[in-house]
Amino acid sequence: MSFKRTIEDFICEKCGTHVSGDGYTDHCPSCLWSKHVDVHPGDRASTCAGAMEPTAVEGTTPNYVILYRCVRCGHTHRVKIHTLDSADAIVALADKRARAAQ
Ligand SMILES: [Zn+2]
Ligand SMILES: [Zn+2]
Repeated sequence: MSFKRTIEDFICEKCGTHVSGDGYTDHCPSCLWSKHVDVHPGDRASTCAGAMEPTAVEGTTPNYVILYRCVRCGHTHRVKIHTLDSADAIVALADKRARAAQ
């Protein structure tokens, strides 16, 4: 029996997409939701495991950053978008914020 490195793979709790991690992916490329697993980016030190809601998009093409807030504990963090992230989901998130600002 051999050990397989599956730590970065996860099933999105929001939309059910199976996400195959590449060492950078920490959020769902389909709906952009993430999970509270880090205290500092990449350390996987948090025991919260709450869902991280994408709340806003900042930056300009191609350097977008997604802002997150944990629905369980309120922890916030930001990550660069991944090349595989859904452009539709990013636009929808940017739209949502633009409407909220009006
Ligand atoms: Zn998802
Ligand atoms: Zn949390």
